[in-house]
Amino acid sequence: MATIAFIGLGHMGGPMAINLVKAGHNVHAFDLVDELVKGVVAEGAQAASSAADAVSDADFVISMLPAGKHVEALYVTGDAPLFDRVKPGALIIDSSTIDAATAQRVAKVGAERGINFIDAPVSGGVGGAKEGTLAFMVGASDAQFAQAKPVLECMGKNIFHAGDHGAGQIAKACNNLLLGVLMTGTCEALNLGVKNGLDPAVLSEIMKQSSGNNWALQVYNPFPGVMEGVPSSNGYQGGFMVDLMYKDLGLAMELSQQSASPVPMGSGARALFSLHKAKGNGALDFSSVLKLYQDQ
Ligand code: NAD
Repeated sequence: MATIAFIGLGHMGGPMAINLVKAGHNVHAFDLVDELVKGVVAEGAQAASSAADAVSDADFVISMLPAGKHVEALYVTGDAPLFDRVKPGALIIDSSTIDAATAQRVAKVGAERGINFIDAPVSGGVGGAKEGTLAFMVGASDAQFAQAKPVLECMGKNIFHAGDHGAGQIAKACNNLLLGVLMTGTCEALNLGVKNGLDPAVLSEIMKQSSGNNWALQVYNPFPGVMEGVPSSNGYQGGFMVDLMYKDLGLAMELSQQSASPVPMGSGARALFSLHKAKGNGALDFSSVLKLYQDQ
């Protein structure tokens, strides 16, 4: 079993690190927040006193941080960059959702120094992180992907090789752009039907069995009371926050600018989430964007 440094033990990183412990790995855990380290140590990980301490003996380094600036600072530009500390031959797997340009830049700096850095963002949310059923979208060489896969399988169910460095982040941005469009479109259609006298459950079933069928209707209905066990039936608590959807749609906008590829649907969805966030709903689940339509 491998020695794995895990850095960033938040909503996602904490349960992911615990699944590595459960799989028998020797996990050295670090977060800026002591309480989060303690939570993972209680499940069998070892506490590291710093990120540098965590990686000193690690075969794999996994990071799960908020954004690109945190990732670049941790490995390259910060006070004690981990590229100066990692063991020769170690594989660094960044699972944070960040911009592809930063992922590619950090990988390039690493490659110039003989350090393996790959991007492997995830889909599946906190539930998937806890259950070990995440989807990983990996940007790496074939050899790096083969090395990473057995470790990622301890935390996820579907491990995809999207392409070379940065491709995992591009795939994640494309997926979440589509998710934002699907969710806002589903809310729009449901609200239109209900405002015109239809029952949301009946309309949902009709669209699910018709050509409007999509993931939101199947497993994540945004209309309260239509589906059990989803955030819409729990005051939009838990799930995937509006703030994170807004962030991910921003990453898609950046990609669109860099590649001059039009994203009018994604841009429209982002405007809706932006308005919804500005009304103080950033911490609610993203399916709460229905309220924006209902409040009109
Ligand atoms: P979070 O804010 O709960 O966790 C991030 C953690 O990183 C925090 O505990 C913070 O203290 C720690 N951190 C920041 N800088 C650090 C540093 N230099 N050293 C050590 N620790 C540091 O966020 P999260 O919800 O766990 O999300 C993490 C990443 O996963 C984000 O990029 C997010 O977009 C992505 N993601 C989140 C979800 C979700 O549903 N929450 C789903 C898919 C992807």
